[in-house]
Amino acid sequence: MSDSNPSTLSDLNTIVSLFREADRIVISTHTRPDGDAIGSQLGLGNYLKSKGKQVRMINSDPSPYNLEWLPGSKDIEIYEGSLAQVEFITKADLVVVLDTNVEDRLGSPGKSLRNSPGTKLLIDHHTSPEQWFDHMYRRESASSTAELLFEIMAHWDVEAISYEVAAPFYVAIMTDTGSFRFSNVTPELHHIIAQLMDRGSLDPSLLHAGVYDKKSIEGIRLLSKVLSTIELHFDGLVGTVLVTRRMLQDTGASVEETDGFVNQVLSIEGVAVAMIFTETERGTKVSFRSKGDFHVHKWAQHYGGGGHRNASGAFIYGSLENAFKKTLDSAHQFISIPVADESSDLSSEDAAYLNSLMNSQKN
Ligand code: 5GP
Ligand code: MN
Repeated sequence: MSDSNPSTLSDLNTIVSLFREADRIVISTHTRPDGDAIGSQLGLGNYLKSKGKQVRMINSDPSPYNLEWLPGSKDIEIYEGSLAQVEFITKADLVVVLDTNVEDRLGSPGKSLRNSPGTKLLIDHHTSPEQWFDHMYRRESASSTAELLFEIMAHWDVEAISYEVAAPFYVAIMTDTGSFRFSNVTPELHHIIAQLMDRGSLDPSLLHAGVYDKKSIEGIRLLSKVLSTIELHFDGLVGTVLVTRRMLQDTGASVEETDGFVNQVLSIEGVAVAMIFTETERGTKVSFRSKGDFHVHKWAQHYGGGGHRNASGAFIYGSLENAFKKTLDSAHQFISIPVADESSDLSSEDAAYLNSLMNSQKN
């Protein structure tokens, strides 16, 4: 295990007892939920329901459109602060937080979940957890939150893993490992996949298509605009693309459809860090992706964000132009860039490029 603070971990017996003894259980996950967030939540929710538990799944934000077909999806609620929701959270025996470890990332129900008198349990694979949880089952080296949940269920009752549990978990692991190709993929993980396929009678090609072959023509038009902004920096070590509000308006695509665009940049030979800058009303969302030893989580943390070594994100208040310049200018602090590289003096060139882009957007 790669955790810096293993004393915060509870063992599997303890975690299973928490679930066994609880009757009312609330499960929540992070804002702008991804495949691991929703897949983990649904797999756990469906499993606990099959054990006769009262379960409510309460999130800040809606699920992505390409995950709506997962079993149990329509039971996920958006937090509105209604009496029924607040009462359930307040009277819950167990509050389970998945795939994030900070209150802020839980969005609107965060405060209410944290203040619940119920036992707070964190199950997660991100760095630097906040300390308000009563129990944690976490491992940074885990591929996904769903991998950790599978370990808990295998310890409790593996026979209870049905299609309703296996399909969401398969999707969670598939999406968090880039379809089983990131460095967090291990023989043990493939063994878990084999068990999920077996227990849920899963068809991997159907599950893959269900998640990834859902693009709209608007989304593909947006991709073409976004890719046309591609730029390489530091001798091709860092690649960037931009998403402006104007591009979203012009194509009619929704911002969720930019999911995965950044991987196109990372697929360029020689690029070790890829970034996508998305302009929003309030500021700029930056997503970082990287390969191997080029770690980006500290870079994202520097701007108030976080994540994993090879996949992180942050939200920078201010214009797209500013966020872009600021982030690239700070590259030296977070990744090692060959010293002899003249192109690392990028500001004037990039500023000119960005200016021309912003101007053409206004026209
Ligand atoms: P994405 O770039 O897909 O939004 O996020 C990649 C990873 O970075 C996520 O799994 C999440 O862990 C992390 N991340 C993204 N945005 C934020 C943020 O604003 N704050 C924190 N703490 N982590 C983020
Ligand atoms: Mn995850």
